[in-house]
Amino acid sequence: MQNKINWQKVDNLLPVIVQHAQTCEVLMLGYMNQEALDKTLAEKKVTFFSRTKQRLWTKGETSGHFLNVVDVSLDCDNDTLLILVNPIGPTCHTGAESCFHQFETQSEGDWTWFAKLERELAERKNADPETSYTAKLYQKGTKKIAQKVGEEAVETVLAAMAKDRAETVSEAADLVYHLTVLLQNEELSWQDVIAKLKERHQGIGLHPEGSNK
Ligand code: AMP
Ligand code: ZN
Ligand code: ZN
Ligand code: ZN
Repeated sequence: MQNKINWQKVDNLLPVIVQHAQTCEVLMLGYMNQEALDKTLAEKKVTFFSRTKQRLWTKGETSGHFLNVVDVSLDCDNDTLLILVNPIGPTCHTGAESCFHQFETQSEGDWTWFAKLERELAERKNADPETSYTAKLYQKGTKKIAQKVGEEAVETVLAAMAKDRAETVSEAADLVYHLTVLLQNEELSWQDVIAKLKERHQGIGLHPEGSNK
């Protein structure tokens, strides 16, 4: 990978896009010289060459908000690097998750939004059950949450059987919300579920449980 980089073309400063490995959020953009890249790959923590500081800058060196490297990819013509990371804490010095948070229309990608919803539902464990339905669910416990998931699953199935597409979407939303709460209540997350799906998705074709009997 490293000997492919066209350092001349980039004036010895390679643009690097940093993306959250789970949520796919674009977290920040920085520049690396050869030394910064070597250090990043050796230590598995993102180190840039800071143009303002004019020195190597390991992101998180003072804040502790390190960017742990999951994978790297050069682009098609070897002059830009994409790094997938597991960030420790917020990436932006303003405290925001991502440096890109000034959307003109206050929108964001759908999966990013869903990842944020999951985080918010996790935080509801510490919320007041009087004002938060989610907090109330956690308070009532596993049995109640599991019962709700069962109910919403049945309602989703019935809506689909009735060929009511709008109702199917609405019940599926209820199901996914309650399933997210159930996972959180068991100290699990969609990340665990996706990891399992990935494990099963070997080679060609999908092999969901039971389909290949
Ligand atoms: P850190 O590397 O997170 O310890 O932050 C050290 C210093 O780098 C901060 O005080 C900011 O001046 C700057 N900084 C941190 N994070 C960013 C960022 N995402 N983009 C630009 N500058 C940053
Ligand atoms: Zn390119
Ligand atoms: Zn920032
Ligand atoms: Zn429902």
